[in-house]
Amino acid sequence: MFLTISTNGNEQNPATDLGFLLHKHPDNPFSVNLSYGTAHVLYPEASAERCTAALLLEVDAVALVRRGKGKGRGGAPDAALAQYVNDRPYAASSLLAVALSAVFSSAMKGQCRAKPELPDQVRPLRVEVPAVPARGGAGLVRNLFEPLGWTVTAEPVALDAEFPDWGDSRYVRLRLESETLTLAEALRHLYVLLPVLDDAKHYWVASDEVDKLLRAGDGWLPAHPEQKLITSRYLSRRWSLTREAMERLELVRLAEADDSEVEEIDNAVEEETEAEEKPTPLAVQRRDAIVAALQASGAARVLDLGCGQGQLVQALLKDPGFAEIVGVDVSMRALTIASRRLRLDRMGERQAGRVKLLQGSLAYTDKRLKGYDAAVLCEVVEHLDLPRLPALEYAVFGAARPRTVLVTTPNVEYNVRWESLPAGHSRHSDHRFEWTREEFRTWAGAVAERHGYEAEFVAVGADDPEVGAPTQMAVFTRRTETGAETASEEKEAKAA
Ligand code: SAH
Repeated sequence: MFLTISTNGNEQNPATDLGFLLHKHPDNPFSVNLSYGTAHVLYPEASAERCTAALLLEVDAVALVRRGKGKGRGGAPDAALAQYVNDRPYAASSLLAVALSAVFSSAMKGQCRAKPELPDQVRPLRVEVPAVPARGGAGLVRNLFEPLGWTVTAEPVALDAEFPDWGDSRYVRLRLESETLTLAEALRHLYVLLPVLDDAKHYWVASDEVDKLLRAGDGWLPAHPEQKLITSRYLSRRWSLTREAMERLELVRLAEADDSEVEEIDNAVEEETEAEEKPTPLAVQRRDAIVAALQASGAARVLDLGCGQGQLVQALLKDPGFAEIVGVDVSMRALTIASRRLRLDRMGERQAGRVKLLQGSLAYTDKRLKGYDAAVLCEVVEHLDLPRLPALEYAVFGAARPRTVLVTTPNVEYNVRWESLPAGHSRHSDHRFEWTREEFRTWAGAVAERHGYEAEFVAVGADDPEVGAPTQMAVFTRRTETGAETASEEKEAKAA
């Protein structure tokens, strides 16, 4: 099996730089024994104007069978002959991909010690492979390579040139051309996509293949429109590995969303709810009010329940008085963004020791939430269906039972003051309800009564004489056994 890579150049930028990039000198043919055959690298042409490197892989069909995964396609048990007589020696497949990575590993990583400026260079590239088994045909070949910047020519290979009536085989003669890629990118595309087209690996696919895929797919796979097919085929359709890879690709995508994008999400969220709020957005006023109420309560260990993308956790971290801050959310996606916003991976040990993000649902009691001084539900209750609210109430006030609980929620009466909000609409499409001040007070009063808390109410944002403030906050304080207002008062009362 056979693959050539060519590039053009001139006196200033000679094509023979390809030899430096590939770490194989054009004048010295190179051979190496691999477990299933021998790989050779040679240069059919090498001038300043044009240089071609050829990778030739002589497959040892017997070695392949001995290694156990070289069975005929489909691995039919009676296909004894097919174990020896098959397309493997000729067709570009996972064998060629492995050879590519074995022979050109530095080039694939974009390393070139002799000329360190070369790997980042975009240069005209042409890759030719005479026989690529293509399950999915020429159409799939194009769908795989074109989004990456390749011009694709995939000619079906006739089953037998002398008998055109027999039709085409499932092989294509492949030519890829690009002016926009580095050699390292090109090699990584081939390393992943040749086996994907072949759709039959010559070896058992273990979990380390996910790492290999993500490494080789770095920079292009997370955004590829055929990502799912590529991942599934590359991992030999092993479902659990495919799922793992897809999840990790999603994380990469989120991580690659740089800070500006996180800020954009931020702003979008704020704009959505606080369209007219300038200069201090309501979300900021809300956080300030919460931080002030927490400080007044003397809480050191705080839960942010339904923490979303972590803005409040971030604000709380700024006050060293909050010794432990735990963000809880049901949404993994939100937590991933939160963790990136907080730069959890780059935080010093001491700072990182103060903050934790937990995935969990507030509709269930959760032992992890016990023993904290305070819990915040900032703009969360209205995201639950009303019938689920008693479950949240019990999980927070009945089971976790922190001394202080802060709940904020929109005041629906204020909605008439949002110019951009059509009458009768709630502020956010995911709000299951929005309460009047009266409704909120009634709910909060009943919760306090059921669980032994006192409730006070705070208006957050411009307090309109007619409709009240845009955000309403309830501050719940747990009654102590003795009726004392604070823990220290209680201690004194008990001692007395
Ligand atoms: N407190 C944040 C986010 C508010 S949006 C802020 O003020 O910016 C509501 C959040 O509650 C979302 O992140 C949503 O994922 C979370 N949430 C909704 N239902 C939940 C549940 N049952 N358990 C945990 N989190 C929930």
